[in-house]
Amino acid sequence: MTELLNVDDVIARILHAMQPLPSDPVPLLDALGRVLAKDIHAGQDVPAFASSAMDGYAVRAEDVISASHEHPTRLRVVADIPAGVQPDVRLGAGEAARIMTGAPLPEGADAIVRVEDTGDQWASDGQAALPETVDVFQAAKPGRDVREPGETVRAGALVLARGVTLRAQDVGVLASIGHAAAAVTRRPRVAILSTGTELVEPGQPLRQGQIFNSNGVMLAALVTEAGGDPIVLPAARDTVLDVRACFDDALAQQPDVIISSAGVSVGTHDVVRTVISALGHLELWRVNLRPGKPLAYGDVGGVPFFGLPGNPVSVMVTFEVFVRPALDRLLGLSGEGRPVITATLSQDLASDGRRSYLRVRLERDSGDWVARPIGMQSSAELLALAQADGLMIIPEGLRHVPAGGRYPVRLLRSLPATD
Ligand code: AMP
Ligand code: MG
Repeated sequence: MTELLNVDDVIARILHAMQPLPSDPVPLLDALGRVLAKDIHAGQDVPAFASSAMDGYAVRAEDVISASHEHPTRLRVVADIPAGVQPDVRLGAGEAARIMTGAPLPEGADAIVRVEDTGDQWASDGQAALPETVDVFQAAKPGRDVREPGETVRAGALVLARGVTLRAQDVGVLASIGHAAAAVTRRPRVAILSTGTELVEPGQPLRQGQIFNSNGVMLAALVTEAGGDPIVLPAARDTVLDVRACFDDALAQQPDVIISSAGVSVGTHDVVRTVISALGHLELWRVNLRPGKPLAYGDVGGVPFFGLPGNPVSVMVTFEVFVRPALDRLLGLSGEGRPVITATLSQDLASDGRRSYLRVRLERDSGDWVARPIGMQSSAELLALAQADGLMIIPEGLRHVPAGGRYPVRLLRSLPATD
């Protein structure tokens, strides 16, 4: 019996072959969730000009140095400055300009007095006539409620680093420095092949001995979640002819990656290997992992190929362990995968010495997360995976795993906030 390969070594070998895909500019409206391909530096100061942070009056601080409720300072109102308009006045001694939030500061002004600190009865509908004078009730230091140029971002500063997955606020930042598009890594095109004579597409009638193809759509969903573009091919029967035709169709779509499920174990009908040997190069790895020991990896016509097991749970686990990091690398991400927490195992377990990914429910217990294995941990039992909060990772080399052990759990859903 050949020795089982270490999971991390296998991941390292896979990643070695993956380089980030080229980037495309996309309009900001399409940039959400995409991976930024280039560092973004500000082309100019933000804000670009000194402006008011408040609705009120632009003043010369020295004029209002002794202003108070008891002894207001009366200033002459010489201008009205709405946002978006460059003022053409210069404040002289004893003068003020009514100003709105975001409006440019007039020359000569160095501070803002908020309207509520003046005697002006401001109409909230913006219709108030400009008064001739205003009484200031409070002293203001120079710079008070003034947004200085470059206060948020200096020209040339790094605003967003490549490799970040763009969120709404990141897209907003790009817009705030005048970008209409973002250079993002192209989404990996991932062809998905399901093989098995027993497979019927959901929605079709099921005959004796047949099962619905759940791997196909699940893999498509996983690929989409991981930032790729799935190309789902119709399921192939377990014949060399059918599987060969399916791979030819997949290659015609010019994918960046091909994933197949089933047909790579040692069953007599496992024809995927036969087909790949003709089209490219295949290694059949026995990985020290449960579920998902047999993993085929290679290239088909120059395209990286993952031959995942057939059992749905093994499909998802091997996708998470091997395929997601590869897609992350293609996208230019650092590739941490789904978040990981540490939890306490609720019960004694027997293990078989392989690295195991257990479906667990997570419960809160006196400030700790407790992981309770669910279902029979069979690799065919997809429902338990759907009910799981995460996959607890039991390291290799263990036969007896006592309750109370603390192990990492890769989260399959977000957890409620805890204190
Ligand atoms: P195999 O790798 O062909 O030996 O398949 C292992 C198990 O996974 C068998 O019980 C198959 O019926 C099942 N299986 C294979 N492909 C799929 C699929 N696309 N959807 C659901 N189950 C599958
Ligand atoms: Mg089969």
